[in-house]
Amino acid sequence: MVQVVNALSFDIEDYFQVSNFEALAPFERWERFEPRVEENTRKILDLLAVHGVQATFFILGWVAERFPGLVKAIAAGGHEIGTHGYRHRLVYTLTPDQFREDLRRSIGWIEPAAGKKVQGHRAPSFSITEKSLWAVDVLKEEGLRYDSSIFPVRHPRYGIPGTPPQPHEIRPGFWEFPMSALKLGRFKLPIAGGGYFRLYPYRMTRWGIRRLNRRALPAVVYLHPWEFDPDQPRLEASLQARFRHYTNLRKTAGRLDRLLGEFSFAPLGAILENYSGRLENHWVRR
Ligand SMILES: [Zn+2]
Repeated sequence: MVQVVNALSFDIEDYFQVSNFEALAPFERWERFEPRVEENTRKILDLLAVHGVQATFFILGWVAERFPGLVKAIAAGGHEIGTHGYRHRLVYTLTPDQFREDLRRSIGWIEPAAGKKVQGHRAPSFSITEKSLWAVDVLKEEGLRYDSSIFPVRHPRYGIPGTPPQPHEIRPGFWEFPMSALKLGRFKLPIAGGGYFRLYPYRMTRWGIRRLNRRALPAVVYLHPWEFDPDQPRLEASLQARFRHYTNLRKTAGRLDRLLGEFSFAPLGAILENYSGRLENHWVRR
């Protein structure tokens, strides 16, 4: 059996920038929160260095603007650099022009700090849906090579249920690397990242990734720096929002450590290279 290489990614944002807390921590107030993204991202970099694994870091432009040294450290670790937009706005709440402007602004901060070209995009909260599918055209026009934002599931806030589960050319020369969902009969279960990674027992995530790999599908593992920070300041959000954000924060680092020992991982761009044979080789080393 051929070993499937899975995709490892991190969306680099701080604990107060998540869509889940948007009403409590609007963009205008971000400056007032204690920043913790730098310290938390360095925990991730250290863990990846121990395992000798490279990943894709989709960085929020706002973070790159304030912490260019962090962006530089990520790039120096041989990781792939992508964009998570500038101010974490849900794509389906924007016009194409607003999305383009936010995208350009993010890349304007990320690329000079990284000294590498940005080729990939991850939308805040997977907000590329049927309603905002025009975003892939904008990404392509802006010179990016791929997007990794579409969840092939039905969910109140995201998802395009009919999306193919494997990386595919969604527009000529432009690729979509969809998020991971396990097909169980008629049901599709999102798996391998963020809240799902923290809420499900580790063994369930492992079982899910193995199942995907048996079908020759690479899993897309995605995590955030704040998920490695059990001591972050707590926001007075709704019970549901707090459950989503704070559950099992103490377990993330240990679980990722274990996962890195049990599966092979690479940045998304490196994996797509195998599919497309055409992406430029800016970061591949293994
Ligand atoms: Zn995000």
